[in-house]
Amino acid sequence: MPLSASVLIDGPSELVFDYAVPDHLQVRAGCRVRVPLRNRPATGTVLRLQNSQPEGFNLRFLTDLLDPEPLVTPPLLKLAEWITSYYGTPLEQVIRSIVPAAIRGENTSAKTRRAAVLKQLPDDESLAALAKRAKRQHRILTVLQVAQKPIPIAELGGPAATASLKALAEKGLVEIIDLEVRRDPDASETFIPTQPLTLNDEQQACLDTIKSSLSQASDLKSENSNLSPILLHGITGSGKTEVYLQATRAALSLGRSVIVLVPEISLAPQTVQRFKARFHDLAGEIAVLHSNLSQGERFDEWHRIRDGKARIVIGARSAIFAPVRKPGLIIVDEEHEPAYKQENPPKYHARDLAVVRGHLEKCTILLGSATPSLESYRNTQLGKYALIKLTERADGASLPLTRVVDMRIEARKQKGRDAIISDVLRTSIDKRLEDGEQVIVFLNRRGFARSLQCPPCGHVIECKHCAIPLTYHRAEERLVCHICGYQAIVPRLCPNCNDPAIRFQGYGTEKAEGILRKVFPSAKVARLDTDTTRRKNALRDTLREFRAKKINILLGTQMIAKGLDFPNVTLVGVLNADLSLYAPDFRAGERTFQLLTQVAGRAGRGQMAGEVIIQTSTPHSPSIQFARHHDFDGFVAQELDVREQFGYPPFTHLALLLARSSHERRAEFTLQTLHRRLAEKLPGEIILGDPSPSPLTKSHSQFRFQLLLRGPNARVLSHHLNRVLKATPTPEDVIVTADLDAYDLG
Ligand code: ADP
Ligand code: ZN
Repeated sequence: MPLSASVLIDGPSELVFDYAVPDHLQVRAGCRVRVPLRNRPATGTVLRLQNSQPEGFNLRFLTDLLDPEPLVTPPLLKLAEWITSYYGTPLEQVIRSIVPAAIRGENTSAKTRRAAVLKQLPDDESLAALAKRAKRQHRILTVLQVAQKPIPIAELGGPAATASLKALAEKGLVEIIDLEVRRDPDASETFIPTQPLTLNDEQQACLDTIKSSLSQASDLKSENSNLSPILLHGITGSGKTEVYLQATRAALSLGRSVIVLVPEISLAPQTVQRFKARFHDLAGEIAVLHSNLSQGERFDEWHRIRDGKARIVIGARSAIFAPVRKPGLIIVDEEHEPAYKQENPPKYHARDLAVVRGHLEKCTILLGSATPSLESYRNTQLGKYALIKLTERADGASLPLTRVVDMRIEARKQKGRDAIISDVLRTSIDKRLEDGEQVIVFLNRRGFARSLQCPPCGHVIECKHCAIPLTYHRAEERLVCHICGYQAIVPRLCPNCNDPAIRFQGYGTEKAEGILRKVFPSAKVARLDTDTTRRKNALRDTLREFRAKKINILLGTQMIAKGLDFPNVTLVGVLNADLSLYAPDFRAGERTFQLLTQVAGRAGRGQMAGEVIIQTSTPHSPSIQFARHHDFDGFVAQELDVREQFGYPPFTHLALLLARSSHERRAEFTLQTLHRRLAEKLPGEIILGDPSPSPLTKSHSQFRFQLLLRGPNARVLSHHLNRVLKATPTPEDVIVTADLDAYDLG
């Protein structure tokens, strides 16, 4: 039976058409082809092949195969199909995010330079003659003979050499060719090579576990064997990166490739440096994928990876799609980071995709973190993942001493003003500055304060059904629960202490910066947040100045919480821990514990002892107390209890359904319609919340409404949700999106 191919046409319109495949073309899924589209030729990617139906004889033939190798390798195509069925995103959209536009389009291609290569040397007599009469020709021949490889014409004298080269070519001694050159984004960098460190016992045990998984993966005979992902729980500074480096070497020596995922490449310059320095011998084999690559650079890096020339790939979440050959090890550093979740469709989670890809390609998955996500940790309890641990700092430093300051007392002391810097923190910063040490001040401003908290007593108003803070909607003067939809009126007095001071409050980094400058007039203060880092290289430059000790106090958002290693920082202050703790999200406690632990990891990385000061109005909250005592196990035990009791992940999967429109009523009405349909169709195991305005009520002049679904099985949830979505028509000016395993709850 004749074959037909479904082809995703290049271009923004996402068209997919079927074409008959001519017998003489070896077309496979994932290949690029040329096809007729109306009256003009077009290009596209083959999504799948099928046997044509009888009426398929009317199909037009595709005309050409552009690339003998499939652009999307078979395992990546399988991964794409998995994403489609799990997240409900159309395959063509998934393929487009797997293969960058720079690769799919025809506008970018390999960069070439004209070069000369030696074909044959003349006999001694003619050579001697050349040396006398045509010195330039003689010199070119000598250079090419010594080089034993093509030399760009520019390096042989450029235009001045043209006549000589032409003469040599006519004599058949030299050939002029097009030489492919790599656009190397890091060509100007240099690295000082490093040698592997002698591992301590814990690190050695971890490496042994990883190595045995690597060799198991290498000689798997059966198709369906199960290789468990490995979770490396290592406290900050315990030497996880050293383990990654040596595990990478081990995978390479088995002839396999390695992908290293980091939450955000611009925040991981030190990780990239350490890989480049360690694999100095393989300098050309490291590809770093980041969003600042030019189209040409991206084209080259992608092809270097696919052709097996780059065997180590470092990148942010989309690097999980790197077309490496024979991946043996995929490392997901800081696996708990929400940055691994893609915000636009397909809304995949790169850590979860790593696990799926590891299964498809039989490779070892290593997830690392000082504060593993509850999802991954739970999987170790269930025996799905293996757990390995590093419990001590590798450089012999001790964990910083952590103090908690009760801001309720401070609010009473600094009556009438916003208490931003406590006396304890002020005295401590003064002392550090005097000693020439550096300070990091941290303020989580993500989403600013949306919950009501009473300053005198610290009380927070929560939903009685869901154990999360209610969100204050100022316009409607209402409190709303974004899990179940419960609504309440705003109290005039605090229900706990009857004080009228309960109100919408909070301050951002900008205000904090002003106050720091005022309180510490002789100190140099710098601020890092999304506003100050818009300029290209602003982040890098500020961090460089901080490292050079030109900045005394670095103030920042979660941007500065992770990964950075500054030996001279001895004090970290957290201005308002409650901001993240009382975000209207069931993960708020987990996020706060993670942030405090990561931030504390920035203090005392060098020889000097570190100190952390946490300011809060709820000093006894478990997340703060467990973080203070560096007690991950204690935190996890109590948090898992709460999650189980209220039916939150990791005990359920969750989907967020969002309707947005510039037309408020229509957005709300659409969501109500969907809610009704879902209520009719959903099996009983799925918990359906009520529609409510999103915590972010309006954004980009669109009104937002949302509802949450929870169920024990992700596929069942996704299946039913997508069926209802497909079957329910929505008004043109309302956009409905579904987010499975959502992290950002609006
Ligand atoms: P993590 O990635 O867990 O935060 P790092 O790998 O950055 O930890 O290690 C912290 C510090 O300890 C680094 O300065 C590193 O060079 C050092 N270190 C790591 N392993 C060893 C070791 N086996 N011996 C000596 N120093 C080590
Ligand atoms: Zn509720």
